[in-house]
Amino acid sequence: MIDLPKNIHIIERGWLSANQIYIYDHASIDVVDSGFCFHGQQTIQLLQSFLDQHPSLKPRQLFNTHLHSDHCGGNRALQDAFQFTCLVPESEFTSVRNWPLAQQSFEYLGQPCPKFTATKSLKIGSTIQIGSFDFEIHGTPGHHAHSILLFAPSLGLLISADALWEKGFGALFSEVSDRSGFQEQRATLQLIESLPVKVVVPGHGNPFVNIQSALDNAYSRLDYLESSPQRNTHHVAQVLFQFMVMFTEKLSLEDGLNWCLKTPLFRMSADQLGLSIEELFSQTLEYLQNKQSLSFTDGKIKHRW
Ligand SMILES: [Zn+2]
Repeated sequence: MIDLPKNIHIIERGWLSANQIYIYDHASIDVVDSGFCFHGQQTIQLLQSFLDQHPSLKPRQLFNTHLHSDHCGGNRALQDAFQFTCLVPESEFTSVRNWPLAQQSFEYLGQPCPKFTATKSLKIGSTIQIGSFDFEIHGTPGHHAHSILLFAPSLGLLISADALWEKGFGALFSEVSDRSGFQEQRATLQLIESLPVKVVVPGHGNPFVNIQSALDNAYSRLDYLESSPQRNTHHVAQVLFQFMVMFTEKLSLEDGLNWCLKTPLFRMSADQLGLSIEELFSQTLEYLQNKQSLSFTDGKIKHRW
């Protein structure tokens, strides 16, 4: 168990929801990321029980590292329950203020996210106060074009979201959508390497201090994916599909195929691989079944927890 600085509390969430970070001072609490929408009630309860133990704290600001539904899907629930002011990366601010645009970006991945409001943006290159600490905001494209990381120099604390995990990083969606993911992810890893990081709080999994080993691992994963762009594209399709099966819980073969047919990034993946959507659907299903991630029994596709 890693000792985190005082006034920083990690809520390590399970599948579907990204980790949440509570950062507070004597009077207010700020929250980084909000989990997946289907876990909204749990997200509220977790914060409420923390506030019950710290009655002097008033909810203040909610920050999003990036607008993927496992990181911002609980925004609406938290805003309705606690009246948080929400801050999103600057390049997403306009789309959140004009919700149909944000909605489109969630539909692009075939994922739900209830409408929320943002009143301020997080500008890359600037510093922002979270709790009583100053955090630098850095852009980390690769997994998500507009993703940011938050780094507190006084603590050596890095909130890395999906740019760096202890074992790897989030799927490189940008390589499928814009052919830029490999290059961007490498620059993101180099950026992290250049920061005096002592502890990383990732978007998924435990906080960790073995920074160099995580970076070595990530570079080697990146080399592996880059050596076969086709493998990376398959991986993107698999991650998208598996996430959908997790939140749907069980679905028919027909519903599975229909989701693939209407999800733009899945369709784009098939196109890049020179496969029909039906072919990529059945290859993805077969791969995830062989990997024991999914089961297909009694006509239903289910996630194997
Ligand atoms: Zn993500």
